[in-house]
Amino acid sequence: MTSLHSPTLVAVAAILMFIMTLMLLAAWRMNPRIAGLKAWTLAFACGLPICLNLLLRDYAPEWLSVVFTQLSTFLLAWLNLAACRRYLNLRRLPHSAGLCTVAMLLLSGLYFTLVQPNQGLRFLTLSTVLGLLFLLSARTMARGGIAHYPARYLYALCCGSHGVFLLLRPWLFHIGNKGLFDSAQMLVVSHLVVIEAIVALVLLGFCVVMLANEQVTLALKQMADRDPLTGAYNRRAFMSMLEKATLYAHRLAFPVSVLLIDLDHFKRINDTWGHQRGDDALRHVVQVAQDCLREGDILGRMGGEEFAIMLPNATQQEAEHIAGRLRQAIEAQPLQYAGATLSLTTSIGVAGWLAPENPDGLLHRADEAMYQAKRQGRNCVVLAPQAV
Ligand code: GH3
Ligand code: MG
Ligand code: MG
Repeated sequence: MTSLHSPTLVAVAAILMFIMTLMLLAAWRMNPRIAGLKAWTLAFACGLPICLNLLLRDYAPEWLSVVFTQLSTFLLAWLNLAACRRYLNLRRLPHSAGLCTVAMLLLSGLYFTLVQPNQGLRFLTLSTVLGLLFLLSARTMARGGIAHYPARYLYALCCGSHGVFLLLRPWLFHIGNKGLFDSAQMLVVSHLVVIEAIVALVLLGFCVVMLANEQVTLALKQMADRDPLTGAYNRRAFMSMLEKATLYAHRLAFPVSVLLIDLDHFKRINDTWGHQRGDDALRHVVQVAQDCLREGDILGRMGGEEFAIMLPNATQQEAEHIAGRLRQAIEAQPLQYAGATLSLTTSIGVAGWLAPENPDGLLHRADEAMYQAKRQGRNCVVLAPQAV
């Protein structure tokens, strides 16, 4: 069996694979909590034996080299797909599917080597399986919205292009073997195959590092914008979003309303049930509130047991309706704890934005309305006066 690949090119690929594996190993050790990095490191580690096999296969029996190629390339593509699924917290791939595929690959590889030697069909089978696995990885990764997760889409693009090339490359050799390419052109095709694999894997390696970076950035943003106890936006993030919403509302002349919610007699919950149950009650209220809201409504914890909700595109009357629904939902869904029922009620102030009022002014009016609700006996909704 004569090798079509230039040993220099394959040696360069081996060095690059080694460097990429080290880079991913470092990324994994530095960010052990990022799911998928371990599987990606292992996938890239398979690149090195693949290159070594290409370099040494003229010195080993053909069947052994075939088994080695099928195993290592399959492992690389399978681990890559597993890493994508882990990164996105999707269900793990069933081992049985992997074992069946690899068994099928090995059997066909050995059949087309020992029983009915046919290098073309062997290459077609392997390339098809690998191509499909890379396309599946691309499909898995492209989710969440390109604006929020650009690195995922870049990764999907590289993975998808590599998958398409893997599916097409047997046809290049097929055309060549039909006599359409001379031997010099065939050599170019075989070099192209190695160069494409090098470029694809280097790009994928960098994309994985970008994915790790994207996760770290998202986690930092989450920490900066969210209240750690309830997961609601914190006061600073809420005010910043309210400011943006009022600017848009001013420019595009659409309404914005705010609800200010204070839990009634919350001190009693803490005093009777303890601070821990008080924390549970706060989380419970946030959960119930989130279930009542539309996509685009923003819930923030303004401090203690006080929350605010921004309702873009809602008039004060619509906001009053939503506040009523929310008040009822919280009252109707008490927190159950150790067989006991912790009843919770809320006083809600509602204010519709009046141009050109600033966010502090809007919130202040909602706050006044909420205190009015407290004075009226709690567990009720009060509208802020329409005129400032
Ligand atoms: P009111 O109906 O007048 O609002 O009565 P209240 O008891 O709710 O009075 P107030 O708003 O003054 O009390 C807020 C209480 O919320 C005081 C504080 O102990 C409790 N609290 C604030 N933050 C937290 C928290 O993070 N966890 C728990 N468990 N309690 C908190
Ligand atoms: Mg209170
Ligand atoms: Mg309060």
